[in-house]
Amino acid sequence: MFAEVIVDVLSSEVDKVFDYKIPESLLLQTGERVVVPFGNRVIEGYVINIKQKSKVAPEKLKSIIKSKDNFPTILPEMLELMKYMVKKYDIKLVDALRLFIVSEFRAGKIKTLTQKICYLNQNVDLEAYSKTLRKNSFNQFELLTYLKTHPSENQAILNEKFSASAVNKFKKDNILCVKTIDVNRSPSTMEVEDKAVALTAEQNRAINAIKNFENKTYLLHGVTGSGKTEVYMRLIKKVLQMEKTAILLVPEISLTPQVLGNLKARFGATVAVLHSGLSAGEKYDEWKRILNCNAKVVVGARSAIFAPLKNLGIIIIDEEHESSYNSESNPRYKTFDIAKFRQTYNKCPLVLGSATPSVETYYKTQTKEIELLELPIRVNQKEMPKIQIVDMLSEIHNGNGSIFSNQLINDLQECFAQKKQALLFLNRRGFTSFMRCNECGYIAKCTDCDAPLVYHKDEEKLKCHYCGKRFKALTACPECKSTYIRQGAVGTQKVVSDIQEIFPNIKIFRMDNDTTRNKNGHQTILEEFAKHKPAILVGTQMIAKGHDFSEVGVVGIIDADQSLYQTDYKSTEKTFQLITQVSGRAGRKDGGGKIVLQTYNPKHYVYKFASNYNYKGFFEKEINIRETTNFPPFSTILRVLITYENESLVSEITKEIFALIKQIAKNFSKDFLFLEAMKSPHTKIKNKFRYQILLRFTKTNESDIIEQIYNIVNKFKNKKASVFVEIDPQNLG
Ligand code: ADP
Ligand code: ZN
Ligand code: ZN
Repeated sequence: MFAEVIVDVLSSEVDKVFDYKIPESLLLQTGERVVVPFGNRVIEGYVINIKQKSKVAPEKLKSIIKSKDNFPTILPEMLELMKYMVKKYDIKLVDALRLFIVSEFRAGKIKTLTQKICYLNQNVDLEAYSKTLRKNSFNQFELLTYLKTHPSENQAILNEKFSASAVNKFKKDNILCVKTIDVNRSPSTMEVEDKAVALTAEQNRAINAIKNFENKTYLLHGVTGSGKTEVYMRLIKKVLQMEKTAILLVPEISLTPQVLGNLKARFGATVAVLHSGLSAGEKYDEWKRILNCNAKVVVGARSAIFAPLKNLGIIIIDEEHESSYNSESNPRYKTFDIAKFRQTYNKCPLVLGSATPSVETYYKTQTKEIELLELPIRVNQKEMPKIQIVDMLSEIHNGNGSIFSNQLINDLQECFAQKKQALLFLNRRGFTSFMRCNECGYIAKCTDCDAPLVYHKDEEKLKCHYCGKRFKALTACPECKSTYIRQGAVGTQKVVSDIQEIFPNIKIFRMDNDTTRNKNGHQTILEEFAKHKPAILVGTQMIAKGHDFSEVGVVGIIDADQSLYQTDYKSTEKTFQLITQVSGRAGRKDGGGKIVLQTYNPKHYVYKFASNYNYKGFFEKEINIRETTNFPPFSTILRVLITYENESLVSEITKEIFALIKQIAKNFSKDFLFLEAMKSPHTKIKNKFRYQILLRFTKTNESDIIEQIYNIVNKFKNKKASVFVEIDPQNLG
């Protein structure tokens, strides 16, 4: 018998399947990790197939040395998934495999943690035994007494309490026997009490709509505070009753410890958690619990979609619109695609949940690809907080040049008088800096694309990231001739120092990338903040997510427009999502929260819809624009990114690939909407120059076009420069 083996050579370009002989003494299954000779080394590999015959000449075949674990670590489902991913994303086999197996397991550095447990021999007459002990051996007498109430105990504890010699004597005398057991390093979770709640009529309707748990996709569109988590938990319960397993994905688990706490409170030890914040040992143990079927519910961030659960009964993706569900570095993948694959393989439902679904997902509910379930009101019947739009240009005209509007300061004063808390939110995404006239609000836009231009400081030029066209940086406003031109944006530190000046006696906390570097950074800040009333929390996107702040009366959105002037077609959608999410943080307990939304562009349709919580209205408007401008979901955007230290090589490769793609564009001329090669907006990252080719084409011949692009790009893969393809990339930076 022969095995096809993928060798696991870290950071190597080896991406081939090798045949090995299976020694007769070795009983091997597909999916097992094996040790094989490779060149003059001995390395690990994975058996992806077992077969009767090999096409390789017998004298060239080497034998597998041994099986590493004696059980498969890769399920048959994952082997299928590997093939799917390789084809869909044009990635290496071994890169896909690496996603399926936690790195701690592969590296072999982490060992199973064991414990020695002492058991009291039940057949011994303890009274008789006590008479054989020497009178002054207090440790032994005490140990004996202790064992009467603790018939099994960790040996280490006994050693410490009663001395190792006493324990050893008892072992020798056959009073104690010792067993070695595996123990789990279980990740700490927030202690949450399981609240038994009676479902609302809406929740009930949503749950009952998912009949038979068949292979179907649902969108649970529920406003913030509508009780989506409860719906997820009820569905998971049903799945467990059917003896099946469940995956619940959240965008970033360190930001939402509550979800995990809730699940553990309800389902106990059958819940495993996978995310990057775990220690290596914890991750290893959780992963093994899943593989051994000791955990049946997996909660985690994106990578938990690869959890080796058998017999999946449901996949739930909470906050489905979040961009963190897409892996943007090698291996690139979209969590939704993987979920779709596993859904089909296991014939189970896939539930997407959000208060602000992505336009693409919501569009699928209209085309009936996805069934829509709605939770239109908050569980506690509390009204959504009022969103007030403040025009920052008129603030400037009225002599207020600070970052805070008078409205916001007034509302904060009132809020602190009531001993409530406030959030000040800064809309920070990417690095974009646009140019704006602070007199009339004019934003420099591309004459061809109507996309906001990006200011490139190094060249002092404005550039369009869609077509590459360049413009002179503004010195005066073309509309009103004012020279009051600004670029860039304020940061969290500036907000903190300015607001402290106005409210010197209020406690202020800051939450951003800088203040949350260490492991429990988020939680520590949130816990501290929760202790103080009144207090202000200043933060970026991080404070927008999921937290159940109960004492927040006012939320100030300092610069709502930031994400609006991103150069990508999703910028309006992202702005809508952010406003809704941040607003959801106010008035959670007693209702009546206030949102102050500061903008230089108060007439933009996104603010009108967002301030009324009108998702459907927003969707209608947005989908119309996408349709007329031919953007996704009505087309596909593809980017080929070429990076390397040597700029002339990057530019040369870009030209070559571009020439070849032009040929495809000719053959599919009806489908191509856009094709252009340019430097990336981020021209250099970590000393590597970045060039890109951007394409946009219709859905008609999508898969043919993508396949042909892959074929071209693959010809350049073994060169020095790195070349890869992204489909519908989240950002074009
Ligand atoms: P969402 O995720 O939709 O924003 P959550 O799941 O966070 O909403 O629910 C908000 C709050 O309502 C939570 O504290 C939750 O425990 C509570 N809750 C959920 N369902 C019910 C119910 N049927 N009755 C009472 N409280 C509920
Ligand atoms: Zn102007
Ligand atoms: Zn343009």
